[in-house]
Formats: sequence, C-alpha cells, structure tokens
Amino acid sequence: MSDPLAPPPARSPEQGDVLVLHGIRKSYNVGTPVENEVLHGIDLRLGAHEFVALTGPSGSGKSTLLNVIGLLERPSAGRLVIDGHDTAALDEAALTGLRGRTIGFVFQYHHLLPAFTALENVLLPSIIAHGVATPQAEARARALLQRVGLAQAMGKRPGELSGGMQQRVAIARALVLQPRLILADEPTGNLDTASADAVFALLRDFNREHGSACLIVTHDPRLAARCDRVLELVDGRLVADTPRRAA
Ligand code: ADP
Ligand code: MG
Repeated sequence: MSDPLAPPPARSPEQGDVLVLHGIRKSYNVGTPVENEVLHGIDLRLGAHEFVALTGPSGSGKSTLLNVIGLLERPSAGRLVIDGHDTAALDEAALTGLRGRTIGFVFQYHHLLPAFTALENVLLPSIIAHGVATPQAEARARALLQRVGLAQAMGKRPGELSGGMQQRVAIARALVLQPRLILADEPTGNLDTASADAVFALLRDFNREHGSACLIVTHDPRLAARCDRVLELVDGRLVADTPRRAA
C-alpha cells in the first residue's frame, strides 16, 4: 500500500515525465453494499517519448486505469499529474481543456460518429477544442488520412468502411491535435493480424516522429515485444515493469 503524501517514486530523471501517478485508487459503487476497489494504489511515471504496453488478464483494471489517466473517470484517491498539471486542483472545465490539449484516446470500439464522414470525424477534436476545424487541423487531418491509406475514403461514412479502416480513422482522430500523450485501449483487439500490424506501426511512427508518449493496452505478446517497456497489471496492482530493447 502506498502513502499518498510521500513523493512520487523516481524513475528516469533525465526524461521529462508526461505522466505521474502516485497511489492511484479507483473504487466503483462507493457507499453501497457492492462497493469495490478496482485499482489498489498505482505508482507510475511515463517519460515524454516512451512507448509502453499495458498488459494483464481480463478484469484486472486496464481500462479503468486508462480511463482515469485519460480524465474520463476521477480517481478515488492518489495523485495524478498530467503534463505537469496536478489534476486534483482542476475543475471539470479545466479537465476537459487539459484532456483536449494533451491526450489522444483510441478506444477498442472506435466510437466514430456514423453520420459524419471520415474527414469530419478526424476534425472533431479541433471543433471541440477550438469551436471550428482550424485550417491547420484540416491540413493535418487530410495528411493523416493519407498516411493511413485512406486518401480515397475521406468522404466516406464509417458504415462504408471496414473495421480496420474505421480504426485507422479513429487513430487519425486521436493524433490530429498532436497530443503529448496517446492512450489506446486494445486498439487492435478486433482486427486481423495485417490490420493490427498496420495500426500498431502507425502509433509507433507517430511516437518516433512527434515524440508523443503512448500507453497501449494489448493482449498481443508480439505487439508488446515491440514496445520500449511492458507493464503488467494483475488484480488492480502493477506487478511488473519491464524495459525492452527498442523495436
Ligand atoms: P480490464 O480492462 O483489465 O478487462 P476493467 O478496468 O474493464 O478491466 O475492469 C476491472 C474491474 O472493474 C472489473 O471487475 C469490472 O467489473 C469493474 N468495473 C469496471 N467498470 C465498472 C463500473 N463502471 N462499475 C462497476 N464496476 C466496474
Ligand atoms: Mg478493458
């Protein structure tokens, strides 16, 4: 059990950390007879350019941890610092702003809006952050869609695209504002091997070119082996943190 008042554990002082967790806990159904703590005090630092896999059995709390880091759920206890901002001090509006500026989230089921084209879906973060699709965002959205092999599909709606294509649109959407931190929850879980490799390579390239840190939940040992570092979560506790040779 970690003491929430103790300083965060040191890891690699030469790197600027984009993410610091100290003693993070998350309980559901608080104050009811079925209250259950899912995360039992997570300590973690992520350097600004790291490419990290998060593995662990089903139900171990991986999605919960990603949702807490992604500011979609508040932790029940502990300290969460994102890009130097202590999130406990922020109200909902400030959290939304920090999320929009700093974090790109890729979900297992892509969550594209069916009535919008691929291009419009990729532009959504810009519209949410700035009220409009800025010219820079539009240029980047087109370049990203080209990059992921969807130049011909920009005007198509999600229903007209394959699962792998939809996930590539979702990744372009997560990258369009060039976030410092990319969180991906089993982004290749529903894809065939070739599409999974393409999606993974896309995240890896973006990490190398823009220096965005990536935290990727994956069950695929082949993909985990291509990350810089592999974390293992079991029953709401980080039980392993293993550096790998860079892929
Ligand atoms: P993983 O992604 O590793 O499969 P999850 O984070 O989805 O694990 O779930 C961890 C545990 O938290 C599970 O026991 C799950 O039932 C529980 N859980 C997740 N979300 C909720 C919720 N909204 N309310 C109550 N329990 C939840
Ligand atoms: Mg999950």
